[in-house]
Amino acid sequence: MYADIIVDISREEVDRPFQYRIPEGLLERLEVGMEVLVPFGMGNRLTKGYVIAITEECKYEPAKENPARMKEIFSISQDGVTVESRLIRLAGWMHENYGSTMIQALKTVLPAKQSVRKLTLRRVERRGSREALIAALGEARRKKQFAKEKLLNELLTSQTIPYEWITGKLGVSASTVRSLERAELLRVVTESTYRNPVGDRETGDTRKNLSHAQQNIVKEVLQDYDAGKRGTYLIHGITGSGKTEVYMALIEQVVARGRQAVFLIPEIALTYQTLVRFYRRFGDRVSLINSTLSAGEKYDQCERAKNREIDVIIGPRSALFTPFPDIGLIVIDEEHESSYKSENTPKYHARETAMEVARLHGASVVLGSATPSLESYYRAMQGEYRLFQLKERLTGGTLPKVHVADLRTELKEGNRSIFSRKLQELLSDRLKKGEQSMLFLNRRGYAGFLSCRACGYVVKCPHCDVSLSEHAGGRLICHYCGYEIPKMKLCPQCGSKYISGFRAGTQQIEEKLKELFPQARVLRMDADTTRRKDSYEKILASFSSGEADVLIGTQMIVKGHDFPRVTLVGIIAADLSLSVGDFRAGERTFQLLTQAAGRAGRGEIPGEVVIQTYQPEHYAVVYSARQDYEAFYREEILYRELLSYPPVSHMLAVQVFSKEEEGGRTLAERLAREADSFADPREPLEKRMLLIGPAPASIGRINDIFRFVFYLKYANYGTLVKVKDALEEKIREWQPKGENVQFDFDPINTM
Ligand code: ADP
Ligand code: ZN
Ligand code: ZN
Repeated sequence: MYADIIVDISREEVDRPFQYRIPEGLLERLEVGMEVLVPFGMGNRLTKGYVIAITEECKYEPAKENPARMKEIFSISQDGVTVESRLIRLAGWMHENYGSTMIQALKTVLPAKQSVRKLTLRRVERRGSREALIAALGEARRKKQFAKEKLLNELLTSQTIPYEWITGKLGVSASTVRSLERAELLRVVTESTYRNPVGDRETGDTRKNLSHAQQNIVKEVLQDYDAGKRGTYLIHGITGSGKTEVYMALIEQVVARGRQAVFLIPEIALTYQTLVRFYRRFGDRVSLINSTLSAGEKYDQCERAKNREIDVIIGPRSALFTPFPDIGLIVIDEEHESSYKSENTPKYHARETAMEVARLHGASVVLGSATPSLESYYRAMQGEYRLFQLKERLTGGTLPKVHVADLRTELKEGNRSIFSRKLQELLSDRLKKGEQSMLFLNRRGYAGFLSCRACGYVVKCPHCDVSLSEHAGGRLICHYCGYEIPKMKLCPQCGSKYISGFRAGTQQIEEKLKELFPQARVLRMDADTTRRKDSYEKILASFSSGEADVLIGTQMIVKGHDFPRVTLVGIIAADLSLSVGDFRAGERTFQLLTQAAGRAGRGEIPGEVVIQTYQPEHYAVVYSARQDYEAFYREEILYRELLSYPPVSHMLAVQVFSKEEEGGRTLAERLAREADSFADPREPLEKRMLLIGPAPASIGRINDIFRFVFYLKYANYGTLVKVKDALEEKIREWQPKGENVQFDFDPINTM
């Protein structure tokens, strides 16, 4: 038996593992992830290494003829489980469960190594009394020493200022700093430190007295924790119900017990306010990882975590891989967000991966959301997770009044505008009063469905109960099973000729709005207007400071930010997310509508919401208008049960990418046949593993790469993993040249 070993633990080195022979004596004990000592290099110096694979296959050419020449592992390190070995085990688990190579998995979990210069950070601190500073300021003004004036002004408001900021942003020269230093008004402090992206900020906690409901959650979770019980907890509570306060209290308690915590938040939902709250509570012991950090900064955060210089990390899903020595708690806020699922192989879900990290460390997991994922709520109902509810909004503000505008009626009564009469009336009212409105187009990915404007009928697949998608050549196709019919000219339900695709973009809404209300100041936020790096923040900041009356946008505008002056939210076409050809369409719509509605009336004045739709009777619309999650869940889970969709069952998507259409189709068909042979004919039909497809993916071709997909539905995840392994084996055997295959378990995005 042989072991693949990496000597230097970093993402860059995993492509170059060294193979060693496993001596008899270690064979029983050696496991993937273990730290070992191996003779390395010319001098055979004993060096630390990590086992990333154990195999029977000898890859070292000369050794095939003469195995004795291969070096042997010297020993297993005494350290036992190290930070690194946990990460490698985690990679092994991801490799197993999500279908990727071990190398891909390792690259996902290991920090990118950057030669970090230990930065020397300089900062300027105020010295001397306020009076002395004010006197000096007066003098600088009289003498027209502008640079000095600027710096003194800054020092009066901040105790410390980063040196780079003074010479950079303030444009004050080093000699000015020196002259004030000589006058004993400031001092320059130099220290060598890791880069901390949060930077210095005043502490001073704004700790709240927890409400009874909040206290109860903290108490129950800690009781379990101190009894040695590790579990998963789901907090269902609307925005503003005090979840973050509970997370902080729990994190604080776990940190007090000497362990570390990971706080996951979708990047787009992380607001500055949240960051400051954590910073105030945890001071320098908290840090942040996100996409704006440089690779060097990320690496620094990892080093600080490993050296126990921080206790808490905040970040998107990749923050799970922070190399903390001893994680006690993982919190996932907005746990329903689809950004927790990776779109790259390994296509892992942060929620499931968090459970595995928790298992490896002996940690608990807390999930929170205003609209929990069907997955989590289902687990809670099954008793796997403990469920807590926070029902009251602590910030005041009442729930908005929701109107549902039936677009079929609008058409019938002669209104062909994209704005219903109710929405027009309320928009005009808000413009008069000088209050703000948001118009929300819940477009997501590709929504090429066909629907009837007169009766609301949506053309669906009779087998999969998802909307059919319109394709070139007038065909309608189901993207799960490949069912196909020609596009009809008249509505099959009511015979109307107003049956068509739905295409309205944010730009079009902006134009129509300006036609209706030429005086309105309008901002638009979508993929076009946010291409520049900071434009997202700029648009939000400008809206929040009242520079516009209406903000038009896609999903982006409903996350995170609070706009107390928004008293009207209009959802232009709820159907856009309701009828994408995807079994999660109802869930996604419920979440989006509920969130969007929650945007209205955060401040003193109560808000109103208009949901425009052709399907006002759809349960996702009905229950989001009532903000009734439980009722929505009960309907949605019935649908999932009926059609064996997750979370009731599991689904494996096998995607084939190919330059040649025929080659891709053929490979997809061959693989599908292999997979289908795993269906056990002794099982009753409704329990048996079900093959759906293969079919062209909903976007059948991107950049001249053809995409085919088939699905397997089965209640047992482990069996699907076995099928995946078998398919991987076949792919190795067949060695397809122009094709590439990816696996996606319980897919979120089936575009
Ligand atoms: P969520 O995370 O559910 O949106 P937060 O924890 O952010 O809720 O709380 C919403 C607001 O209510 C925040 O401004 C917070 O400071 C405040 N808050 C939270 N808990 C309490 C409490 N027990 N007493 C008073 N205010 C609270
Ligand atoms: Zn119709
Ligand atoms: Zn179908």
